[in-house]
Amino acid sequence: MIFKSPRDPIDIPDLDLYTFLFSENEFNKHAYPDKKVLVDAGTGKSITYRELREQSAKLAYGWNSQAGLQKGDVVAVFAPNQVDHPVLYYSLLAAQCTISPGNPSYTENEFLHQISDSNAKAVVTVPELLPLVSVAAQKCNIPADRIYLFGDVQTQGYRPFRSLIGDEQVPFPIRGINPKEDLSFICYSSGTTGRAKGVMLTHRNFVSNVLQVTNIDKNFHQLNDVYMGFLPFYHIYGINSLILTVCGYRAQLLVVISKYTLENFLKAVEQYKITYANIVPPVAVHLGKDPLVKKYDTSSLRMLGCGAAPLGKEHIEAIERQLGVGVKQGYGMTECASTTTSQPVDELDRIGSVGVLIANNEMKIIDEAGNELGPEQEGEIVIRGPNIMKGYLNNPTANAETFTADGWLRTGDIGKLAKDGHFYVVDRLKELIKVKGFQVAPAELEALLMGRDEIADVCVIGVYNSAQATEFPRAYIVLQKNVQQSEQLKNDLLKYVEKSVAPHKKLKAGIRFVPSIPKSPSGKILRRIIKSEWTKAEEEE
Ligand code: AMP
Repeated sequence: MIFKSPRDPIDIPDLDLYTFLFSENEFNKHAYPDKKVLVDAGTGKSITYRELREQSAKLAYGWNSQAGLQKGDVVAVFAPNQVDHPVLYYSLLAAQCTISPGNPSYTENEFLHQISDSNAKAVVTVPELLPLVSVAAQKCNIPADRIYLFGDVQTQGYRPFRSLIGDEQVPFPIRGINPKEDLSFICYSSGTTGRAKGVMLTHRNFVSNVLQVTNIDKNFHQLNDVYMGFLPFYHIYGINSLILTVCGYRAQLLVVISKYTLENFLKAVEQYKITYANIVPPVAVHLGKDPLVKKYDTSSLRMLGCGAAPLGKEHIEAIERQLGVGVKQGYGMTECASTTTSQPVDELDRIGSVGVLIANNEMKIIDEAGNELGPEQEGEIVIRGPNIMKGYLNNPTANAETFTADGWLRTGDIGKLAKDGHFYVVDRLKELIKVKGFQVAPAELEALLMGRDEIADVCVIGVYNSAQATEFPRAYIVLQKNVQQSEQLKNDLLKYVEKSVAPHKKLKAGIRFVPSIPKSPSGKILRRIIKSEWTKAEEEE
């Protein structure tokens, strides 16, 4: 059975993302060009709607004429949240380039993988990351003059990208982009299996998702809403919900926080009278339980939005008690340009639900043989709609595995539709581990560990930590016959992983030495046995 959105279909304009974002719309934003749309919570630096538009159009001209970037060139961006992130992203869109954003806590090898896999022609970063990023970029033959910095200061000979801003602007509307084919972003996600892959997202994917997400709560959003901006601007959740939708499409004020701490969060709410905060489950735990919350004035908050990983009912109820605001859950993935279901703000009573399908999206729940199931039946969620990615970059095998023959995207998540039309995500079929909303691909950690001589076989899974509302990775390791297990070896291996990968991929749920890894007759690791039987048995001990 095909489930349809309860919302009427919306017309998706055939526009490139930049032209779409800077065209007038129902927020009547062109009437307020001097309205602030960005403020840096650390320095107080702010940017108006007019400045965002003019600076991005001038910078776009600079990218094309001075930096020599051409249509389709990929620019990799590695930085913690900066108030200039939207100016940068918009300028690259207007310059007809493709943005490939990545986690700034990557190691040199992780930067290298993304720069080379996406075939980036330029890199933008912050001065602190130069020692790693510049080396990775040079290994990919990116010349030093194609490495640019956030900020205003030239560092070690590398130019700030703002120095490319002159008097001339690219003409508006942008011409020459095919919204259905041309890529706006290449984000990295492991999808249902294997290592991180480039997710090709077109201009139309985001034009659709910005409209779909706004449309779910049509009468709720106001031009004078103030948004919390700590979600990473390199992850799909921050890109779509904050950078594109909030300060671009709706011209609302986005308060940029470069490093989340509960105190930074609460201070910003009080100082800027934030009305809406997008959060992830571990932050929900803080907001529901931490006594610090009571020390700040949070009365401006109208709503919290939570996504990127499952959020338990108890945390939502704790937030409602402590903060007196509702939590609206959404569900999606990088491959659908962020969101596919969202709880309407006036239907938050179904606690634990991820809401209803956004307009123009269709969903099916299928069993292992691909048969369509009905309401109240659990199975894999598959989706279809204009926000679904074009495919994985240079990866026909992954594309064949991820799309069904008739074009549905397999999410690798297990869910069901309740009788009242609201969806629930109940489990994850795919290998992916989510650490505080960030992706960890077991295949990557397994490949790393298999590089060690002592190890004969390994399986990495996510173990749920309910106190922190997140999974952490754990490795089950089979040692070579001649190797003795010991605490010393365990610590060596933990340290080895720690220095080889970004911090969120650390084996925080530890290592277990086991005699063998359960496998199917075809040699596939039976992760679900390890997850459901081994980790459970340990919990019960
Ligand atoms: P990403 O591509 O990093 O956004 O990760 C997408 C995956 O995160 C989904 O396929 C789900 O497994 C998980 N996810 C996202 N939102 C939710 C949610 N509200 N509830 C449960 N899982 C979620």
